[in-house]
Amino acid sequence: KPAQGGGKELKKETQLGLSTKKADDFSKWYSELVVASELISYYDVSGCYILRPWAFSMWEVVQRWFDDNIKKLGVQNAYFPMFITEDVLNTEKDHVEGFAPEVAWVTRAGNSEMDKPIAIRPTSETVMYPYYAQWIRSHRDLPLRLNQWTNVVRWEFKYPTPFIRSREFLWQEGHTAFATQAEADTEVRQILDFYAGVYQELLAVPVTQGQKSDKEKFAGALYTTTVEAFIPDNGRGVQGATSHCLGQNFSKMFGIEFETEDHGKSHAWQNSWGLTTRSLGVMIMTHGDDKGLVLPPRVAPKQVVIIPIPKSSSAPEQVAAMFEQVKAFKASLESSSVRVETDYRTNYTPGWKYNHWELRGVPIRMELGPKDMDNKTVVLARRDTGAKEFVPWDQVATRVPELLEQIQADMLAKAKARYDACVETVTTWEAFMAALNNKHMALAPWADEEEVEEDVKKRSATADAMGAKTLCIPFEQPPLPEGAVCFASGKPAKNWALWGRSY
Ligand code: AMP
Repeated sequence: KPAQGGGKELKKETQLGLSTKKADDFSKWYSELVVASELISYYDVSGCYILRPWAFSMWEVVQRWFDDNIKKLGVQNAYFPMFITEDVLNTEKDHVEGFAPEVAWVTRAGNSEMDKPIAIRPTSETVMYPYYAQWIRSHRDLPLRLNQWTNVVRWEFKYPTPFIRSREFLWQEGHTAFATQAEADTEVRQILDFYAGVYQELLAVPVTQGQKSDKEKFAGALYTTTVEAFIPDNGRGVQGATSHCLGQNFSKMFGIEFETEDHGKSHAWQNSWGLTTRSLGVMIMTHGDDKGLVLPPRVAPKQVVIIPIPKSSSAPEQVAAMFEQVKAFKASLESSSVRVETDYRTNYTPGWKYNHWELRGVPIRMELGPKDMDNKTVVLARRDTGAKEFVPWDQVATRVPELLEQIQADMLAKAKARYDACVETVTTWEAFMAALNNKHMALAPWADEEEVEEDVKKRSATADAMGAKTLCIPFEQPPLPEGAVCFASGKPAKNWALWGRSY
């Protein structure tokens, strides 16, 4: 019997689906979803997860898109070791202070204690820059623009969440060096635009671009820019990816000095920038529903699943003809680069198969039953809205790609509308707290001082909710009225900051 509906009954009946609704218990829903949809498996080291093929192939789409874009800018890929000596790690004071609590150390090899423990990279500034100092001698060696696709380890003590906060994660880290600040500044923003592109164009997740406050910037950076996402269901901001201008802080510490055109000496201007598998988590949280994943077509490992639905009374040649037709659709769609799955399994009911592929988030389900064979039509069912349409066979090859683009655009528009509805413009402490407690972000005029941010964090914590911090100072600033004061301190306001509780 085909399974109907959602929730507990569905799970009992089919052993598929989710027992928790997104609106009832968001974090339980999420942890059930990522496992049931075969994205990850939990692992016996806390905070580490196995990325199964369904997740990894989405990471590959993100990689390909980003990699193509940075290569057009002239960035090259390289690989540096994952181990760091203690001396080198300690070179940049602010940097090491920021990362020290999360660094994992190798202290033993086999049965013998190491003479000197070796750190595992939490990020690779200190791994790479001693070599940048050797390689960069003259202005002719600049710019130097390298990127690596790797894992890093940050032994975080905050509660781990698959994709969003793990102790080992996959990322790319770009590390570049320029002769001038102007070139470095330009690249910071180019990369940030690519990050916004990953979120908005691939993952259909809206973000705000802006600068981090001094308190929240990267340890050792001159300034940090960020794309900030938001999860309306639990009212939490998420730092999507960050592009840092390191200024000359690291080049001075590591001696990255070059001879200028007029035979002077100058320290290089440096950037570093990173995007992690967290991006997939934000996408899953944004779009998923009570039936499972809802994947934006551009990253979906499979964009269409074709399900033939023979009747048990169908003659063998009718079934064969139907399966042939499915094969023909697969071939024709694949020739226009659509990623197609087919499900010929006869030991499951159509309803079971629908649930199976809905749980995995495939954007379009194409059904082909005996009536469709007679009428030479197929049914296309959208995962995001559930809407169904009949399409004549000769239009399938044009309609499917068109519908995939439509779904992609609609998913972003829907998420953007929800995001925008979560931004409240406030000017007083009371309105600020009301926004937070309403699971919203607050856009507020503030004094842009670290003390004020610390004070807000303390004062906005309640018995059951953490304190708020600045997510960013958005690049797009509303005009600041003359004489505007900080919502929290009453001091003169310097800008509008976006605040929220966050991951
Ligand atoms: P950072 O090098 O600290 O600027 O980190 C780069 C990006 O990595 C951040 O903007 C986050 O989006 C992401 N990130 C930070 N910590 C984690 C973590 N524990 N797991 C997954 N992603 C992370």
